[in-house]
Amino acid sequence: MNLLFVASECAPFIKTGGLADVIGAVPKSLPPLGARVRVLLPAYPALSGEVAQGTEVLSLPDLHGGPARVLAVTARGIDLLLLDAPHLFDRPGNIYLDGNGQDWHDNALRFGALSRVGAMIARGDLGDWTPDLVNAHDWQAALVPAYLTDWQVDVPTVMTIHNIAFQGVYAPEVMGPLGLSHSMFDVDRGEYYGGFSFLKTGLMLADRITTVSPTYARELMEPGFGMGLDGVMRARRSDLSGIVNGIDLDVWNPDDDPSIDTPYSARTLKRKAANKSVLEARFGLAPGDGPLFCVISRLTEQKGLDLLLEALPAMLAEGGRLALLGSGDKGLERGFAEAASRYPGQVGTIIGYDEPLSHLMQAGSDAILIPSRFEPCGLTQLYGLRYGTIPVVARTGGLADTVIDANPAALDMGVATGVQFAPITAPALEQAISRTISLYAQPKVWAGMQRRAMRQPVGWDASAQAYHALFTDLIEG
Ligand code: ADP
Repeated sequence: MNLLFVASECAPFIKTGGLADVIGAVPKSLPPLGARVRVLLPAYPALSGEVAQGTEVLSLPDLHGGPARVLAVTARGIDLLLLDAPHLFDRPGNIYLDGNGQDWHDNALRFGALSRVGAMIARGDLGDWTPDLVNAHDWQAALVPAYLTDWQVDVPTVMTIHNIAFQGVYAPEVMGPLGLSHSMFDVDRGEYYGGFSFLKTGLMLADRITTVSPTYARELMEPGFGMGLDGVMRARRSDLSGIVNGIDLDVWNPDDDPSIDTPYSARTLKRKAANKSVLEARFGLAPGDGPLFCVISRLTEQKGLDLLLEALPAMLAEGGRLALLGSGDKGLERGFAEAASRYPGQVGTIIGYDEPLSHLMQAGSDAILIPSRFEPCGLTQLYGLRYGTIPVVARTGGLADTVIDANPAALDMGVATGVQFAPITAPALEQAISRTISLYAQPKVWAGMQRRAMRQPVGWDASAQAYHALFTDLIEG
């Protein structure tokens, strides 16, 4: 089975969020099941090393205003097809945003090109390799089914939603330069309140739709979560499924992690404490009897961290401490920086993006806070489980699917792995934190939860099988 994944991010090469982790992991989990996956990815500057080693497999004299080529290279165990189009992707800074934090003015052309080349490869333009199926990820790849429809190429397509908040809606005038037929500007295709929506087009035209957790799949059909596409999701209910993300167990392994101080496992849990001391020193925190909570997150409205700012005084009064690593919204950055100066020794804030530090935080913290207003799957709670760092999560999306709340029944049955709260408000978060602090004060109960969390299967095995079954079903029709 030959599969083409089309996506705008892929870890470890280029990452702004969970999408990259998934694209970096699924292609490695499918070959044991008999599938070969190639990943089509823009050749951003971060990939110049891979470009230098690549072999040209397709040449395009004019792709949306300049010459382009596709290079094949295998790097870090992933078969990459790199779309080298300097006029579109050779730019400094963020892959989506310009220096002023605005979307690049030509994002429609940039990611339209990615989709278009994905469709060309599906059509057979590489000559010696044609996929049996294309899996398009998020709005940046969502026009693959549109081009295939326009060109009357019959290759099955799956559209995967990692976050429906990002949809790629543009003025209909972009459709000319994108080379799409006018028939795409239809309410049953890409037309969206007078604009042209990349994601809606993909959702209407793909053979199947997946998203990254069963709960998020259900939520997407509700007005509060569907972000204007809930009607589309309801219309396609029978083709929609949720497959929860896994994590890369080699990269996230507390027993073998070069970024942490002292390796440990469920059997040697006591060693985790050494990481806590190093983490406290790194964040300027004073040791304490209460739990050390961490946050590793983009600082945006979605992540609900304004609720944490509200709940913080109560948490500190009860003996909790906080180490936060994140960047994004300036107001939130300021809020947490101010909290660190107001509560020295109790709150530590590092603004930025630091992958190795995020590993040390998972290893050294007692609990990880994730009060998201919505969360398609979420990865940091899965890392938390693997590192015995108890997730305290909002009951939404993948957070609801992957964490078992420590209510009395779950504790009695010995199945609890974390703490959930709802509704997603500051008082409910405050209560959840208070509950966590009480659990932490019972060392046996706490260690039991940690060990159970660490043994929970959070790798890709089950999900890879689910993807494989879906792909097989579609290809064999
Ligand atoms: P999202 O994709 O919405 O940002 P996820 O939980 O799915 O949320 O994935 C976030 C990923 O980004 C995780 O791998 C997390 O560890 C990482 N991450 C987020 N913020 C930071 C940061 N400031 N430094 C390092 N890693 C971060």
